Amino acid sequence: MAEGFVISPPARPSVRVAGSDRLFPIHRIYCVGRNYAAHAVEMGGDPQREPPFFFSKPADAATQAVQLSYPPRTHDLHHEVELVAVLGRGGRNIAPEKALEHVFGYAVGVDLTRRDLQTAAKGAGRPWDTAKGFDASAPISEIRPASEIGHPTKGAIELRLDGQLRQQGDLADMIWSVAEVIAELSTYFELWAGDMVFTGTPQGVGAIPPGGRIVASIAGIGSLEFALDRVEG
Ligand code: MN
Repeated sequence: MAEGFVISPPARPSVRVAGSDRLFPIHRIYCVGRNYAAHAVEMGGDPQREPPFFFSKPADAATQAVQLSYPPRTHDLHHEVELVAVLGRGGRNIAPEKALEHVFGYAVGVDLTRRDLQTAAKGAGRPWDTAKGFDASAPISEIRPASEIGHPTKGAIELRLDGQLRQQGDLADMIWSVAEVIAELSTYFELWAGDMVFTGTPQGVGAIPPGGRIVASIAGIGSLEFALDRVEG
């Protein structure tokens, strides 16, 4: 028992850093909705440049497991491949011109979504937490430090399900850049080193069936592979 606590404190969620034996500790996971025009349209939205909107996942939703349980209470688990920016420095009211100085590195993430629950929540005007913030809802690759790869602003972002190309886009098609997303987010929340930002998904979202195998990749950053168990949760 750790001194001073009435129960053992949970382990700090963390993610591996490529080429290192050290870990990136996760503080919070923020997510951007509808940041590629073609995806905004497929979700019934407007492709115009409206301010980005945000939701979040618990820090311990991040996972690097290669085999995941099919989550409970859904029959429509969707994949959303996303560029993830991770912060090495926090702040409030960060200027867009300074925002990339706060980025430690980048990873490939999948914003797993219980689409049936999200659709019901939207219809009822209810929060998205059960649709977006469930256990292991944020598979993520190793982090590539910006000190090695820079700050990618273009390049293919793709997702394959069982070998078939399902999502395909380019980072250059993001409506709000990483810097603009961080700047806007920092007006709502004080950002901290350890925060992660899932920056939105290109078109082609769809269901992962039980037993489905995902390979997601972003040019210049890397790839992420995982499979879902064969039985629904
Ligand atoms: Mn998403």
